[in-house]
Formats: sequence, C-alpha cells, structure tokens
Amino acid sequence: MQIQIQPTSSSRIDQVDFDNLTFGRSFADHMLVAEYADGAWQSVTIQPYGPLAYQPAMMSLHYGQSIFEGMKGYRSVSGDIQVFRPEENLKRFNKSALRMCMPEVPKEIFLDGLRTLLKLDQAWVPAKEGCSLYIRPFMFATDEYVGVTPSNTYKFIIFNCPVGSYYTKPLRVRVETEFIRAAKGGVGFAKNAGNYGGSLFPTQNAIKDGYDQIIWTDAATHQFVEEAGTMNLMFVVNGSLVTAPTGDTILDGVTRKSVLQIAKDWGMDVQERPLSIKELIQGIQSGVVTEAFGAGTAAVIAPIATIGFEGIDYHLPARKDDDFSVKVYNEINQIRLGQIPDARGWIWKV
Ligand code: PMP
Repeated sequence: MQIQIQPTSSSRIDQVDFDNLTFGRSFADHMLVAEYADGAWQSVTIQPYGPLAYQPAMMSLHYGQSIFEGMKGYRSVSGDIQVFRPEENLKRFNKSALRMCMPEVPKEIFLDGLRTLLKLDQAWVPAKEGCSLYIRPFMFATDEYVGVTPSNTYKFIIFNCPVGSYYTKPLRVRVETEFIRAAKGGVGFAKNAGNYGGSLFPTQNAIKDGYDQIIWTDAATHQFVEEAGTMNLMFVVNGSLVTAPTGDTILDGVTRKSVLQIAKDWGMDVQERPLSIKELIQGIQSGVVTEAFGAGTAAVIAPIATIGFEGIDYHLPARKDDDFSVKVYNEINQIRLGQIPDARGWIWKV
C-alpha cells in the first residue's frame, strides 16, 4: 500500500531533554494515520504529530470501540534501530480487533508503515543506556452516529514517545478481592481501552493504602492470581516458574511469552497453571516462593517485594544477583540491544 509522506517543516526534537525523559510525555515529530471506510483500508499517511478534529458524536468516545498496543524500539549497540517482536503485537492487535468488531490491520500498514515511520523519525530513538522509543499503535471508531452498533469507519494511528529508563523499585502489591478486571467470556484478553478505564478505581484505592499496584484475582472465586496493572505475574515456586494460563481473562503478554521461552531453554520447569492465593501466601511463609515479579513491555521485569492480602503484608526474600528474574531481565535486555547475535529471531530491524 502506498504511503503518502508529509514531512514536518520544523522538527521539535531540540525542545526535548533526552537526559530527563518521562514516560509518555514527549512525542516524536511524525505519526502514521490510516483510514478505513467502505470495507477497506483507503489511505496511509505519515504526517506531523498533532491534533485531529472529530465530531462530538464520534462512536469510539461513546461505545468504546478503541484498541491499542505497546512495544519498544531500541538503538542497538551497532547503532541500528530495532524493535522487539512487533509481529507478536500485530497478531494480538488483530485478536483485539476481532473481539471488538473492528477491521484487521494488515502487516503492510502495521509493520511496513512502522518501518517507514521509524526511518523518518530515527533521530528520536534515544541512544542512552536504558532509554527506548515507546511505540503506540491504536485504532478507534470514527463514525458520527449515536447508536450501539459497530462503526463503519476507523482510524489506525501509530505515534512514538522517546522514554527514559524504566527503573522500578521492588513493588508493593495488594491482592484485589472485591473488584475484577475480566471475566470468562469477557474482553480481558483484548487490549481495548475500557479494560484500563475500569482498572483505575481499584488501583487508586490500593495506592491510597500505600501500595503500588493490585494483583487481580479471578472473577468467579477471587481465589486465583491473574495479572497486575499492565503486567503478567510470575512466581518462582520450589524452583519452578509458575504463571497463570492465558485465556479469556488474561492478556497474552509478549514479555510473558519471551520469559517462559527463555526459562524453558535454560532447562527450568515451567508451569502455566492456576496459582491460588492460599498457595502463594503459604509458599511465601514457608519459603518455597522465592521470587515474585511482573513481566511487561514497560519495565520488562518488575520485582515484587511485598504482597498485601486481607490487611497483612507478606514479604518476599531480598533480590539476589543469581535470581531467575535478574538473569532473565539481563538476557532480554541484551537481546533488545542486539548484544546476542541470533536473539532467537526476536529482533525486527528497521
Ligand atoms: N497485562 C496487561 C493487562 C497489559 O496491559 C500488558 C501490557 N501490554 C501486559 C499484561 C504485558 O504485555 P506485554 O508483555 O506484551 O507488554
């Protein structure tokens, strides 16, 4: 598909302090915009990042047909620009689209479009250790119509944010036993905007009580661990890596998939199975649960220090250099920076 390019007449790059980047607050010069109408993708344009005009009756604002993805681009040690497994994000994006009655985005727009966009804005990919370019593809319904039905028109956009290193201190998380994120038959596996809107209230409650995040539990019984804010959850139990199986209620994380593969390659026992809160708490108390961490694009690995449940805080052992979560973080980081030659085929070069 032909991509029209309308370059900016004045780059904003000099206005950005690359030594002090905050997550999601700076935007690269250009964005890709594709328009869908009459049952087909009509046009793809790369244009300056900036405001778009919409009608108050635009359907996505009312009925939630809005999905997104998140992935990261890096400047490799040899200076090339590369993205970590974007084909996986495209697959997940199209699964989200199907569930939300939205059109699939072909790889000619998603991946080839991304490549053209990143070539144009390559100066925006930070070179500094730990920094990256956060890539945000998203799609939303644009019909001007007040009626609960799928829209006929959509926009697909990709914009990019240079982001600083995402250091997370070990997290304090609380097991959520009142509110839910997703239920069987629902949309938890999709990356639709509403899932995140619904998570804000219980998360804010936990933050008020001194926690950083919540652990979602299953909607039916509140007895099994699901995932955290924007991360899949993993535990080392008796030396095995344990994580909830994906299904209707859990996002099939690209980081999750990568961590499980590396663990298997290293000969570790990997168990994708329901883990009950009871087993988790008892395991922390008896010492068989030695590590707990979140896995997601933003932080890659976010270690968990404390788990709160029914008013009591349970503490994980202090991190050690030979912990699985430390080693797997280093491995993924080296892959992302192009320091491991074959990189399991996970590197997509611009
Ligand atoms: N769960 C949820 C709900 C998320 O939003 C994310 C972030 N995309 C993840 C897990 C982790 O997925 P990934 O590793 O693909 O970033």
